[in-house]
Amino acid sequence: MNHSIDADDLLERFCRYVRLDTRSDPHSATCPSTPGQWDLLRLLESELKDIGAAEARLTSDGYVLATIPSTSNNNGIPRLAWFAHVDTATELPGGAKPIVHRKYDGKPIVLPDDITQQLTIETTPHLREKIGQDIITASGATLLGADDKSGVAVVMSAIRHLKNHPEIPHGIIRICFNPDEEIARGMTKLNLDELGADIGYTLDGEDLGAIDFETFSADAAVLEIRGVSIHPGLAKGVMVNALRLAGGFLSALPAEVSPERTSGRDGFIHPVELEGNADHCTVRLILRDFELNGLAAKRTAVERVVAGLRIVEPRAGFTLTFSEQYRNMRYWLENDMRPVEMAREAMRRAGLTPSSTAIRGGTDGSNLTARGLPCPNLFCGMREVHSRREWVSLQDMKKSAETLLHLAELWQEKTP
Ligand SMILES: [Zn+2]
Repeated sequence: MNHSIDADDLLERFCRYVRLDTRSDPHSATCPSTPGQWDLLRLLESELKDIGAAEARLTSDGYVLATIPSTSNNNGIPRLAWFAHVDTATELPGGAKPIVHRKYDGKPIVLPDDITQQLTIETTPHLREKIGQDIITASGATLLGADDKSGVAVVMSAIRHLKNHPEIPHGIIRICFNPDEEIARGMTKLNLDELGADIGYTLDGEDLGAIDFETFSADAAVLEIRGVSIHPGLAKGVMVNALRLAGGFLSALPAEVSPERTSGRDGFIHPVELEGNADHCTVRLILRDFELNGLAAKRTAVERVVAGLRIVEPRAGFTLTFSEQYRNMRYWLENDMRPVEMAREAMRRAGLTPSSTAIRGGTDGSNLTARGLPCPNLFCGMREVHSRREWVSLQDMKKSAETLLHLAELWQEKTP
């Protein structure tokens, strides 16, 4: 069976996609949040039709869906869905000028539009392992956008290969390219009935051979503080300053339970926004932990600080509300590890050593898994994401696409 992906096609696709500026915008209320994302979504819809994918369509909310029909007589094979997001990180401009460093020679890579941006084997993790490979960077003025256009290009290349090689046996494969992952709204408008899949895989991971199936569990908290206003000239004994209370609240949070002082499996409480004036203000926080009891303890810690403030300043009003953001996908996957085991075996067949670490964040798959579609995250080659030094190896992207081919075949092979 031919599982060798066409590297030239993969590279051309990747460069075509990263040239489009698809940065998302958390302040926009639309879906997709930015018009640039439509350009890539429309391009993908038309390329899927050219490749010969079935049922290719772009929804009014900006999701590109398509089907690769089954090539097997077995109707019981779980339907797979492959996901990648079209938007790029909000903090840096998109619209890269991709530069291909063929057969990388190990010398420093200087990005021409900003020569202070350099990649060297001494300072860039994993670059040394890629000597001899084809490295792609941006020019220094933008991010590259390999997060997640390497995932998009990998999925497109794998589909094209399957269409050109119908002798590879597999079940139904659904494709979904979604907007707005970087602003945590990637899956909000996706209709899972319309998607029609049993197992999902996001192509949005970094380390070669990585399968992520454990993420943070995440809550948000909002504290509204109402003080007492009066002209400062008449304020003695009357004014209650909401901003001073907010300052007291922030300094009473446990400093060691913060993102800047934790790593590994430790969670944190993280104030992200303060807004308001002396009369009233709002503090927004995010709470993270791998375990639900750890997350509950963080809610309790915040509640305790607010309870203390209520005693100190009974004239002020405090309203504290929590909301659930996403949950560790391990809670669902550990009941049925086949989606993870199958991906591990597919990577071995692609010549890789699979590895898994608990990721200190969430993925589109966290949301999907909690909604009933088990969805681990697979590597697709991206490195140093959300930076001007972002890079990717063409050979790593090729391995990722070949993993998908083995994965499709494995689910067929292992279904009685
Ligand atoms: Zn991503």
